[in-house]
Amino acid sequence: MNELKIFAPATIANVSCGFDVLGLCLDTVGDEMIIRKIAEKGIKITKLVGQDLPMETDKNVAGVAGLTMLEKLDLNHGFEIEIYKNIKAGSGIGSSAASSAGTVWAMNELLGKPFTAKELVSFAMEGEKLASGTAHADNVAPALLGDFTLIRSYTPLDIIKIPAPSKLYATVIHPQIEVKTSDSRSVLKQNISLKESIIQIGNLGGLISGLYTSDYDLIGRSLHDEIVEPLRSILIPGFKEVKESAIACGALGAGISGSGPSIFALSKGKEMAEKVAKTMTETYKTLNIDYDVHVSKINSKGCRIIG
Ligand code: ADP
Repeated sequence: MNELKIFAPATIANVSCGFDVLGLCLDTVGDEMIIRKIAEKGIKITKLVGQDLPMETDKNVAGVAGLTMLEKLDLNHGFEIEIYKNIKAGSGIGSSAASSAGTVWAMNELLGKPFTAKELVSFAMEGEKLASGTAHADNVAPALLGDFTLIRSYTPLDIIKIPAPSKLYATVIHPQIEVKTSDSRSVLKQNISLKESIIQIGNLGGLISGLYTSDYDLIGRSLHDEIVEPLRSILIPGFKEVKESAIACGALGAGISGSGPSIFALSKGKEMAEKVAKTMTETYKTLNIDYDVHVSKINSKGCRIIG
């Protein structure tokens, strides 16, 4: 096998109460990539369609993640990568993570799986470091493992895959506005109160428990972010209306996807998720803000071979 065409999924990080530790994998939103073995050593990005992003190996997360993996191997050949982006960079649904994760996942498949999923996460995290300055795993872990993932610890890296109930669907709306990463970071506060941490921990425990027991009501009650959402949501026009309307329509809960500006909602069943999508778009129609909207079941596998 010298070549693979893969689907590299979009992901939702944080999922309300799991700031920096929780993420989930989407099934119908993502990029396509072709990874091919070549005689020349190293990594070459030969095609990048759909987004204006750097193609130099050391400036593209796919190149950086791939090079990190190559450092652990002694190969007499290299890889070339074609990236077909469907996920817009800076949307808050793991655009860079899809490229980092997709690259190392496909390389591992082509090499006969020398690495574990956890090792792949650590290579992909180096791509994330290029995109955002920190080697975070909350998007690459669900892109590689599927379902929900919890990063229990970074040192040492300890990632737990949490199964999603079969009827759980995500709706994601991406308002076409730019939120600068520096702004979404600068609104965060570095200290939180004991009261806030108690509320957050209670909800995170509730959400994890609800996922394991397919208790949709508990999942809904637990989708609450006491710490980050109140600060970051002010950067997203229409956030409060979109969230409230989604819940009034029947969504289990809603919140900011990653660092925004995308907003996600979780629902029981596809029909409800589609109804919620329609409701969420109304606000942006009224505000005259363009948007993309997606409905997806939770992807239990992560990256996959296509075509
Ligand atoms: P989000 O998670 O909000 O979708 P990202 O964390 O993916 O956003 O950030 C995108 C950043 O990563 C942009 O600055 C972009 O230039 C950079 N980048 C480098 N390589 C890629 C790639 N292959 N795909 C997407 N973004 C990339």
